[in-house]
Amino acid sequence: MHIMITNDDGIHAHGIHALAEAMKELGNVTVVAPDRERSAVGHSLTLHSPLRIFELQKGWYAVDGTPTDCVNMGIHNMLPFSPDLIVSGINHGANLGDDVTYSGTVAAAMEANLMGIPAIAFSLATFEKSGYFSDAAQIALRVARHVTTNKLPADTFLNVNIPNCQLAEMRPVLITRQGRRSFIGKIVDKTDPRGRKYFWIGSEEPKLNDEEGTDFYAINRRHVSITPLHLDLTNHKSLEILAGWEF
Ligand code: MN
Repeated sequence: MHIMITNDDGIHAHGIHALAEAMKELGNVTVVAPDRERSAVGHSLTLHSPLRIFELQKGWYAVDGTPTDCVNMGIHNMLPFSPDLIVSGINHGANLGDDVTYSGTVAAAMEANLMGIPAIAFSLATFEKSGYFSDAAQIALRVARHVTTNKLPADTFLNVNIPNCQLAEMRPVLITRQGRRSFIGKIVDKTDPRGRKYFWIGSEEPKLNDEEGTDFYAINRRHVSITPLHLDLTNHKSLEILAGWEF
């Protein structure tokens, strides 16, 4: 079994090392990850500058691009075989609800899914400096085992969020749907040392739609959340309504 690993926090992040360590139990591991943090780049692809690869140690490659670049480089250039599984993470911070569209961690799994390769994104729900990454990695291993033995449904990849606590304190896996948060956008507006204005996109504590069955609901109650995602963004319920419009 060959497993390719990437992330958006960069190849030096704690989460990717914990994930690689755990995945070794499943098979051969190759890491192809951004050379620095690229969180919130979403599904972006580098088209206007060259990409370079740096081999840091055997099987560990840093690319000066995005997570989507890394998946492309890994599959179309670097690996002599197609991996059986691509895992992304473990992201430092949850990827819940609408945030999946900003996430580079989730986008990497999305890119793998586009290539027909089973893929899972893993995120640890904390922004504290240190997190329970090795406990989360044990969950990642269990989920990855299921994916390789049971096979994913067609066109499906998984977004897994893991609560930040010891394995023994985690509650069972819940299969969830993508929740909604009402984003309270906030632009921080300040002046730099040379008197020029600058702005920084921030946010206040998001108001979560904590409805039962959602990823938010699961994580808020220390459950592991697994959301099956697919790439079809079509709003199927609207097809018929719009088809009734006269153009
Ligand atoms: Mn990140």
